[in-house]
Amino acid sequence: MEKRIVEYDGRYLEYYLFRKKMKNMRMRIKEDGKLFVSCPVYTPLYEINAFILRHFDWIEQKKNEIQSRPLPIKRNYISGEEFLFLGQKYTLVIDIGTKEKVTLIDKYMVLSTRHPDDIDKKHKLIDKWYKEEIDFVFRRQFDMIVKTYRHLFPKTYILKIRQMKARWGSCMINKNTVVLNSKLIYADIKYVDYVIMHELCHFYHKNHDHDFYRMLASLCPCHRQLKKDLNHGGYISYSH
Ligand SMILES: [Zn+2]
Repeated sequence: MEKRIVEYDGRYLEYYLFRKKMKNMRMRIKEDGKLFVSCPVYTPLYEINAFILRHFDWIEQKKNEIQSRPLPIKRNYISGEEFLFLGQKYTLVIDIGTKEKVTLIDKYMVLSTRHPDDIDKKHKLIDKWYKEEIDFVFRRQFDMIVKTYRHLFPKTYILKIRQMKARWGSCMINKNTVVLNSKLIYADIKYVDYVIMHELCHFYHKNHDHDFYRMLASLCPCHRQLKKDLNHGGYISYSH
């Protein structure tokens, strides 16, 4: 691996170069914003730099997207902390109760617990609550969309939910399976629906080509805006 710098229009771009046994050059941007380029072993440097510069706009755009993603928050699970759920912010209230449960009341997320000072316990309870909600909400939306468009999606489809770093959803065409990123639970329901519809369209169109977008637009006319919001962390609704 070599660390290199390429200059373009007075700007400098740092990248990590991997020379490998491969046919075509490839690049990707990691979660931390670092640019990784892999190329066939004997590719001359000018070709590598030209390849990077051809994708300069794409690189800038991806880097901006990564930067605008919300950072993970260090939680203490005390009253007053804010939690996102389906595009709304809820303020945590710790309530000493006899049962261990989470309830949403108005703008509050009320956590009743016999262990109000046990951070681990509170963390687990809230995680468990999110997990159950994710499962319930995503399956409900998925079933509803498949049912609404039964004429397009007549098979039995499997929904899987995972924590993913770089994608909101994916699709395993051969297995009739759609995978959703569990982080979508922070976004408004319309974004959950959008990702489901996007992935379902891949059962007809593997790539993001013209036909794919035509089908997606027929199911979800606002898909462009929704995608833009999602990738810029603009999925939080401040309607109240
Ligand atoms: Zn796609």
